[in-house]
Amino acid sequence: MPTLLTREQALERIRAEVGRPSCLMCALRDGITRTWVLHDADDVLVLVPRFVRCFGHVLVMPRPHCVSYGEVDDTLWARVERASLHAARMLERLRAPRRVYLASTGSAAGELTQSSVHLHVHVLPVEDPDTRPADVFSWSEGIWSQTDEELDALAATYRAAW
Ligand SMILES: [Zn+2]
Repeated sequence: MPTLLTREQALERIRAEVGRPSCLMCALRDGITRTWVLHDADDVLVLVPRFVRCFGHVLVMPRPHCVSYGEVDDTLWARVERASLHAARMLERLRAPRRVYLASTGSAAGELTQSSVHLHVHVLPVEDPDTRPADVFSWSEGIWSQTDEELDALAATYRAAW
């Protein structure tokens, strides 16, 4: 069963697992810890993150380290967007959520333990009609941690449907 952790508990776990890398996205890309990759092609990496506010969350990122839209290659960002759209459609097919939220947020405060300056896109299946973006893009109300076994099963399902 996924476990609801406080923000501080989750941050402690992440720091214990990966330390404080200069870029969390690059660290995940480079395999600093176990990741659940759904798709890895043409410099775009698609993962299932361990810590989620919405079950089924998918993360899409460009492999090269880029922190602004001014520096990201147009063709590469188009591939990131295409993979995000593909992930959103996959979530609609598999999970029939009420809505899929799709957003490139990242950190405005520099590199943080739970949020990276490296551009990335969150693809979130929203099940509850009362859920608002502020509810799922913040860890202030806690964060769900999924087990390796849960992530194995979810990633297998997603890979088969990709
Ligand atoms: Zn990076």
